[in-house]
Amino acid sequence: MSRTVRVDTVVVGAGMAGLACAADLCDAGLEVLLLEASRDVGGRMASDRRDGYVLDHGFQVFNTAYPQVRQRVDLAALRLRPFDPGYVLALGDRRLPLVDPTRRPGELVPAVTGLLGAGLRPRDLAALAAMSGRDMLAPPRLLKRGPDLTTRQALRRAGLDDAFVDTVLAPFLRGVFLEPQLETSGRFFHLVWRSMLRGSLCLPERGIGAVPRQLADRLPLGTLRLGAGVERLTDDGVALTNGLAVHARAVVVAAGPTAARALLPSLPLTPTHAVTTAHHAAPEAPWPEKALLVDGNGPLLHTSVVSNVQPRYAPAGVALVSTSLPGVADEEQLVAAEARLAELYRTSTRAWERVAVHRVREALPASPAPWPLSRTSRLAPGRHVCGDHRATASVQGALASGARAAREVLHDLTRSQTASRPRGRAARAPARADTAAG
Ligand SMILES: Cc1cc2nc3c(=O)[nH]c(=O)nc-3n(C[C@H](O)[C@H](O)[C@H](O)COP(=O)(O)OP(=O)(O)OC[C@H]3O[C@@H](n4cnc5c(N)ncnc54)[C@H](O)[C@@H]3O)c2cc1C
Repeated sequence: MSRTVRVDTVVVGAGMAGLACAADLCDAGLEVLLLEASRDVGGRMASDRRDGYVLDHGFQVFNTAYPQVRQRVDLAALRLRPFDPGYVLALGDRRLPLVDPTRRPGELVPAVTGLLGAGLRPRDLAALAAMSGRDMLAPPRLLKRGPDLTTRQALRRAGLDDAFVDTVLAPFLRGVFLEPQLETSGRFFHLVWRSMLRGSLCLPERGIGAVPRQLADRLPLGTLRLGAGVERLTDDGVALTNGLAVHARAVVVAAGPTAARALLPSLPLTPTHAVTTAHHAAPEAPWPEKALLVDGNGPLLHTSVVSNVQPRYAPAGVALVSTSLPGVADEEQLVAAEARLAELYRTSTRAWERVAVHRVREALPASPAPWPLSRTSRLAPGRHVCGDHRATASVQGALASGARAAREVLHDLTRSQTASRPRGRAARAPARADTAAG
């Protein structure tokens, strides 16, 4: 790159939001530079390949029902393998399957019998079924209507008793939202629940990082610069840490919440939730299931034999077990987690090898109720921001926020077109993406 570059728009950060924003702006005919500080795209969606393992940077599932995903991602090319729908709840010495009766009707009766045998009330199971039916079938605008409650309040409103929520749903949801109190926006909860019921939770053959790489591969050549950290915004663009300057008519900051605030000090502080994921190699799979095993009354969030789901995650003859713990776990907590894994899988973990540990301090931005599902990207003329912290803490939220930023940049640049230099191609507004969050 020469010392100074001129483009229409510079996008800072090649996570899902920045990739979506850059793609839409390029599609509209703008000259775009997407600057990424690290050596790969994807931000929080990243994977390593090491010694035959695929190691995602934190256990993460890919949801095929997200509207933005359906619109942008070539799902077949990812060679996805699905988890079994629902989850298995480990409660004391019981393992209770929470099945999706619409997909596995044959498993409904034993599952309900197990739940009733564990002391759960038929009334709560009926309320859960009614809520799930509504979330699955109702149009998203209905789920977004009315005042936003916390997830706990929303569950109460759906007729679910607190004791049932604490026993059955909270252990699963704290692994989704990474907060135990269920203070997260209830609207966001219903949209996430909907997308889980309507889609499949999957793992791509080459790891979760294959998703952003696919989006990056579609960008016009020369759009993406890796190892290009932005130090600060300037009056007419950005200055990079390596001394280069980029002049642009618009700047979109698509960094995570803290990095975005470092570049845009007027942004409000967004609290974030942390998670730790430990990947273990086991000489054989400790159980045959392709399910998420949720720790109902222990220190873990959940665990899964990911190589049962996606065999490419481990070399032949070995199993890969991925386990999430709340917060930033220290060595003592990891050792305790290994003991707990032995209880959960009812096997010895002595021969297991810890292959990798990912501690993600800023895994998810907090989104307590009331939470706006989508916010404008505009901060000042020519300055925009996007990312999951501006929408919902999810892949859908990040992509939708990036799409919204692209629409707003295009709108603003088109309005000031007369002042801009003549262009060969007229800027075309991208088709409005479904911004349903969740
Ligand atoms: C462990 C874990 C599990 C998750 N599980 C799920 C899940 O199951 N389902 C789901 O929907 N979501 C999940 N998420 C959330 C999802 O991954 C994020 O919401 C989404 O990836 C955020 O994308 P983003 O583009 O907003 O931000 P980021 O991914 O944070 O991308 C920001 C990018 O900006 C770059 N950057 C920062 N500062 C600069 C700078 N100054 N100059 C240049 N570049 C810069 C960063 O390097 C990064 O690449 C999970 C997240 C984690 C961490």
